[in-house]
Amino acid sequence: MHVSLIFILRQNVQSIFQRSYRELRPRAPMPEFRVDFYAFANINNTIRLRQGVIHVRISDLLEGAPDNVTEAIAHILLAKIYRKPIQPLHATRYRRYVSSHDMTTKAHLVRQMRGRKRIESAHGQVYDLEEVFEALNRQFFHGLLARPTMTWSRTDSRNSLAHYDPAHNTIVVSRVFDHPRVPRYAVEYIVYHEMLHLKYPVKLRGSRRCVHGPEFQAEEKLFPQLEDARLFLKSL
Ligand SMILES: [Zn+2]
Repeated sequence: MHVSLIFILRQNVQSIFQRSYRELRPRAPMPEFRVDFYAFANINNTIRLRQGVIHVRISDLLEGAPDNVTEAIAHILLAKIYRKPIQPLHATRYRRYVSSHDMTTKAHLVRQMRGRKRIESAHGQVYDLEEVFEALNRQFFHGLLARPTMTWSRTDSRNSLAHYDPAHNTIVVSRVFDHPRVPRYAVEYIVYHEMLHLKYPVKLRGSRRCVHGPEFQAEEKLFPQLEDARLFLKSL
């Protein structure tokens, strides 16, 4: 998959930071922002100003947080770096979100697992990739594709929606999609696309390029909600 959804998400976060910066410093020149989601062991966010570029690292546990929470994070981090007072509204909003039951449980689980080994699981919070694979296998491949290891990505920080890794016979789907706001057809489309990579292997070494030949593309068009899925991916 080469549509860079992570890139789009990051753009959204970047524009939130730009807006927040403008509020805080109405007349100062706009710096460049580099925002990354990062697999910290805890909920943690860092900001650093280096040679005119603001580097922000946000805990991947906060990826997919509502925009007003991201706004609060941007405000708090920027206020810190420019020594401005933190508005109570933002402080409260952030604290509430982070201390909500879901987040603390998630952080706790992640801490436990990261402490031990890589998290690799097909069973997400919302979608089970093995179940999605089998449903598509029956619907489009007469159940004939052997299921590779299916896993949600460990973090959201890579520039990839999903990929098939032939060396480990694994389909990895970005954890961004394991979210209630993501419709099932979008997850199905992403998995279906990777299943076509399974069916039409590319004999290229050392290249991460994603090759979609004419057969691949024709078969991809069989997916009934192709347009909706692509629109959804674009809208993110
Ligand atoms: Zn592809």
